[in-house]
Amino acid sequence: MILREYLPSIDHSLCRRCRKCEEICPAAAVSLVQEEKRMAVDPGRCIDCQRCMDACPENAITMLPRKADRVLRIDLSCLDPWEIKRLCRRVGLAPGEAVCACSFITARELAGAVLLGARTPEDVCAMTGVRRGCGIYCLVNVFKILEAGGVTPEERRKSRLYHHPLDPLDIPEERLREIDARFPQFRILDDVSLIRKFRGREMLEEA
Ligand code: SF4
Ligand code: SF4
Repeated sequence: MILREYLPSIDHSLCRRCRKCEEICPAAAVSLVQEEKRMAVDPGRCIDCQRCMDACPENAITMLPRKADRVLRIDLSCLDPWEIKRLCRRVGLAPGEAVCACSFITARELAGAVLLGARTPEDVCAMTGVRRGCGIYCLVNVFKILEAGGVTPEERRKSRLYHHPLDPLDIPEERLREIDARFPQFRILDDVSLIRKFRGREMLEEA
């Protein structure tokens, strides 16, 4: 469970409607309301990542405390645990594995979001809080789980940080050794070996 305490407030006297905030938002929580010709934030989707505030060239966005914290929690109790396991295993993830190094969201929560109706990476983000930090490593798992759930996300838009990086376990062994020789400081072989061990153990425990 994650609590979100802040919400962007847009100063419309400063806003030039450049839509940079809309482009950067990982939860599709801010958008241009055409009829009103102004940007609006959806409090029910915002995960308080603050990217829009950083991206605004006019300093028109301030993060203000919400009246009540937003609780981000996927209610797994109403879902079939075997369906969750099935989705996770289909993409080689252990259900209890943290798929996001920034938010510690687990694979089972991503699967839960898909089973509860998420249809885009932004939906998964808005429902779980994943992609709240770097938004890079976790994204590959968001795509994998969506696709395992039979969802083909709409065309990937550059503006929403869609670059589908590889899971380290998808990289061929030979390439991993090359990377390790060139960039030993990243210790990629150690990382891969730890991920393999963790996934193997979790799969056995969950069997
Ligand atoms: S980035 Fe700033 S100026 Fe541009 S649309 Fe958003 S709030 Fe307005
Ligand atoms: S999710 Fe992040 S980028 Fe989107 S509106 Fe909320 S604070 Fe801004």
